[in-house]
Amino acid sequence: MLSPDKYIKNYIDGKLVPADSGAYFDNVNPATGKVYAHIPDSEASDVQKAYEAAERAFPLWSGMTTEKRYRILSRLADIIEQYTEPLARAESIDSGKPFSLASTVDIPRSQANFRFFATAITHFSSESHHVPGEAINFTLRQPVGVVGCISPWNLPLYLFSWKIAPALATGNCVVAKPSEVTPMTAYLLSKACMEAGLPAGVLNIVHGYGQKAGQAIVEHPKIKAVSFTGGTSTGKRIAATAAPMFKKLSLELGGKNPNLIFADCDFEKTMVTTLKSSFSNNGQICLCGSRIYIERSIYEKFRDEFVKRTQFLKVGDPFSAVTDLGALSSQAHKEKVQSYLQLAEVEGGTILCGGTEVEVPGEYEGGAFLRPAVIEGLSNNCRTNQEEIFGPVVTLQPFDTEEEAIALANDIDYGLAATVWTQDISRAHRVAEKLQSGIVWVNCWMLRDLRTPFGGVKNSGVGREGGLEALRFFTEAKNVCVKY
Ligand code: NDP
Repeated sequence: MLSPDKYIKNYIDGKLVPADSGAYFDNVNPATGKVYAHIPDSEASDVQKAYEAAERAFPLWSGMTTEKRYRILSRLADIIEQYTEPLARAESIDSGKPFSLASTVDIPRSQANFRFFATAITHFSSESHHVPGEAINFTLRQPVGVVGCISPWNLPLYLFSWKIAPALATGNCVVAKPSEVTPMTAYLLSKACMEAGLPAGVLNIVHGYGQKAGQAIVEHPKIKAVSFTGGTSTGKRIAATAAPMFKKLSLELGGKNPNLIFADCDFEKTMVTTLKSSFSNNGQICLCGSRIYIERSIYEKFRDEFVKRTQFLKVGDPFSAVTDLGALSSQAHKEKVQSYLQLAEVEGGTILCGGTEVEVPGEYEGGAFLRPAVIEGLSNNCRTNQEEIFGPVVTLQPFDTEEEAIALANDIDYGLAATVWTQDISRAHRVAEKLQSGIVWVNCWMLRDLRTPFGGVKNSGVGREGGLEALRFFTEAKNVCVKY
C-alpha cells in the first residue's frame, strides 16, 4: 500500500532508512501552514551510501535484457496508475495544488513517463556508417553508469519521474533527490519500486536540502551525469561545480514565457487557454505564459474579458472540486510573489485585479493563498517583465506589428516556451521560426507529446529532455570501426 508516513525515509539499496545523522526537518502543508511530516536531513555520507548501492547494482541492471527492464518499469507504471488517488492526495497536501489537478495531470503523467520510456527502450536503435569496400562503423549506446537526478517542487512526481524513467530505461543506476519542499510522492515512489520488484540499489532516493544533499550528488566524483530541473541561479551553481569535473549535464531552468495574441485569433479559444496557461498550478509551471502581448486593435476587449474571468477563478480548499487555484507552494514563496507585486507598482504598473491574500476559514486559515493578478502599464524591460516570478501573476502589453511582437517576446534572457494565437497559418509559421524559444505552441498550450525534444534556449537551460534526446543523454556513444 502506498500510504504516506509521518517520518519520510531515504530509499537506499532497496531499503527505507533514516539519514545517517538521524536528523529530520519539518514538512509543511502550504494550504494549512501546519507541519504534517518530517524529512530526513541527509548529507554527503548518505549520498555516498546511495552511490555505493547504485554502483553495486549497475552490472546486474545494465546487463539485463531490455525486455526485462521494460517489464519492471512498466510494472512500476501500473502501480502508479493503480494508486493514482493516494498519490494525488499526497501531492496535493505536499504542494498545495488542487487534488483535481494532481489526479488528472501530475500522477497520470508520472505513470506515463515510466510507461513511455519502458517501451521507448525496446525501440531504441543505434547508427551504422559504412565505408564501402573497407570498413563498417557502428555506434554502441551504453549507459553512463551512476547518474544524478535533481528535481523541483512545482510538479513533484511528474518531473522526478521524467528524469528517472529514461535514466533507468537505458540501464543506468540513479541517485535522485526531490525538492525538500515536496518530498512525499518521491517517498511513495520508493514504496512503489519495492512493490514493482526493482532490484535493490538501481534507484536510490536521498531526501534533504539542496545545498547539502543535492550539492553532494553534484560534487560526487563518480556520479558521471547530472540531470537537473530548477531555477536558473541553482543551475548556474551546478554547472560551476559539475563542468570542471567533465560531467554530462542536462539543465532545465527558469522561464518567462511570452504569449503572442494576434487580432485574428479565435478569441474564445485564446481566452480559455490563456487563462490556463497563466494560472494553472498557480502559475508555478515553468511553461506558464507570464508576459501576454496583445495586438492593439483587440487589447481592450481582451484585457477586460481576461480580467473578468480571472476574477471568477476560485481560490481555496485544494480538495474542493470547484477550486481552480490552491495554495502556493509555501509562505516564503507567497511572500516572494507579493514582493514582485509591490515592485510592479513601484515600476509604474497598474494591478487590474488580484494580488491580495485570501482568507480561507477553518482548516485552511494559515494557508498560502493569493488571488491571481493581472498587471498592465509596465515597460518591457522592467524587472517585473524580465524576472521569473513563478506565481499567479501575468502582465499585459499591447503591440502594433508582427515584428514588434516578436522583438518584445525575444527581448529577455530566457527562452523556454512561447504561445502564438492566430488563424493566419503563414504568420504562425513565420513567428514560430523567429521566436527564441525551445518550445512554441500555436493555438494551444501544454499539448505534450513525450517523443518531442523538451528544453530551453538562452538562460532557460542546456540540453534537451524527452524522447530520443533523453535516451541519448543517458547513454554514451561509442563508435566501433571494423575493417574487412
Ligand atoms: P531550485 O533551483 O531552488 O531547486 C531545484 C532542485 O535543486 C531542488 O531539489 C533543490 O533542493 C535542489 N538544489 C538546490 N540547490 C542545490 C545545489 N546547490 N546543488 C544541487 N541541488 C540543489 O528550484 P525550485 O525547486 O525553486 O523550482 C522552481 C524553479 O524550477 C523555477 O525557476 C522553474 O522555472 C524551474 N523549473 C524549470 C522547468 C523546466 O523544465 N525548464 C520545469 C519546472 C520548474 P531543495 O528544494 O531541497 O532546496
